Amino acid sequence: MEKTLVLIKPDAMQRGLANTILSRLEKLGLKLIALKMLHLDKQFAQQHYDIHRDKPFFSSLVDYISSTPIVAAAFEGDKAIEQARKAMGATDPAKSEAGTIRGDFGVDIEHNSVHGSDSAESAEREISLFFTEEEIFSS
Ligand code: UDP
Ligand code: MG
Repeated sequence: MEKTLVLIKPDAMQRGLANTILSRLEKLGLKLIALKMLHLDKQFAQQHYDIHRDKPFFSSLVDYISSTPIVAAAFEGDKAIEQARKAMGATDPAKSEAGTIRGDFGVDIEHNSVHGSDSAESAEREISLFFTEEEIFSS
């Protein structure tokens, strides 16, 4: 069964949207298999977003994701990666459809409420960055 990592980003945490977002993903039929709240330090944030190291928005993104505690979750299900990203909508909330998480809650292209893994390889890397084997309750 496919797994994906979801982060509830600081803008959503500050507005009390963690449960609402997790609930939307559960309603897709995705199964919650790991969950924690944590405050990333800069080094952890840089590791998570390593693929974007050379992008102009990298340093701002790292500052942002480490600015408040966040919620990290792993979900499992059929096409979990694609299902979660579809429910999240486009990266830029201005381009996300209404009814998607970013379309409904995102503030701007950086403060876009959620992270979702973009491939099986990313999901595996990201889930193992946030969770130990013992913290994952996979069926
Ligand atoms: N981001 C940003 N400016 C941009 C593009 C992305 O601040 O021009 C931020 C945004 O928070 C996004 C994250 O960097 O979610 C990772 O970017 P990516 O292209 O991987 O988008 P995602 O996979 O999250 O949709
Ligand atoms: Mg991405």
